[in-house]
Amino acid sequence: MRVAIALAIATLFTASQLSAQPAAVQGRWTLVIHGGAGVIERDRLTPEQDAAIRAALNAALESGSAVLREGGASLDAVEAAIRVLEDDPNFNAGRGAVFTYDGTIEHDASIMDGRNRSAGAVTGTSQTRYPITLARRVMTESPHVFLRGSGADQFSAEQGLEQVENSWFATDRRREQLDEFLAREVGEVSAYDIDMKYGTVGAVAVDMDGNVAAGTSTGGMTGKRWGRIGDSPVIGAGTYADNRACAVSATGTGEYFIRVGVAHEICAQIRFRFEQELAHARASVPMAEDGMPEYYVDASEFGLQPNQVQEIADSVIAEMGALGGTGGVIVTTPWGTATYSFNTPGMYRGMAASEMDANVAIYGDED
Ligand code: ASP
Repeated sequence: MRVAIALAIATLFTASQLSAQPAAVQGRWTLVIHGGAGVIERDRLTPEQDAAIRAALNAALESGSAVLREGGASLDAVEAAIRVLEDDPNFNAGRGAVFTYDGTIEHDASIMDGRNRSAGAVTGTSQTRYPITLARRVMTESPHVFLRGSGADQFSAEQGLEQVENSWFATDRRREQLDEFLAREVGEVSAYDIDMKYGTVGAVAVDMDGNVAAGTSTGGMTGKRWGRIGDSPVIGAGTYADNRACAVSATGTGEYFIRVGVAHEICAQIRFRFEQELAHARASVPMAEDGMPEYYVDASEFGLQPNQVQEIADSVIAEMGALGGTGGVIVTTPWGTATYSFNTPGMYRGMAASEMDANVAIYGDED
């Protein structure tokens, strides 16, 4: 199949095409989102909660898809989709984020541009309404990648981003979860056990130009203290984007995702596999009588199969799981593959693409 494609483009050979850079399938785009993974089972959600979460996921997909459909950039789509989820109190991001041990709300967010691996991240912000937008400003308007706490909020205000009182983010449900956490002995229960689902939000996209982007936003873990930072704002752990491979956003037990470097690990493995397959295909081209290859295998016509991408994502999640972590990732590639992988009973998730209708799911047994 790949050889057939290569034959068709054999006449396009130029030296500049030698670099192994997978190209977009012209005019196609893909968007994948998540709203957290965890012990998400049918008997744990009321029909109203189930419907509200699906509606929110659909709204986020629509917001990002509207950008991509018009030929807009994957970065804009990722930011647009995440802002919808940050505003929705059903998710652990923006409004509705979990409480810290001290009863405050502190956000983490990150974003990455696959074109040049520019990245921006913030941790421990407490006044910025849309932390994902702040992460993007760090990327584009500061010389830095990662800002923390009050300094990040100060930069945010200087950038003219909307500021709100910390109490604006609070919801009763998250307050109850903190009360439950505090009612137990420290050490008796991990923050992960309180809600048994993580609720972080994220998005990955590839636009019509084949550029990938990824973003993640969260309140972290209920009862977090001592300045704890999870994987979500850590580039390479919770978020990564590289046009040579993929875009990834994660959710789950952040400490394990940091230790494995989950998002970067998936992208690195996809890049190496792509290069291996391409080299193999080129080495298999028969030689003509003049000693030259009969045709040129163009990287731009090449991409991994969806099952290859799935295998890589699954193997990295399994590696993280073997250490004791739980959670999942969303992945997209420059050639349009869209994949979820998670080792929890469910993950709030959705995908949309130029050639398919939007689709959202919650439980592990849904397609
Ligand atoms: N990964 C996030 C953290 O560890 C939590 C989540 O995914 O909800 O902070």
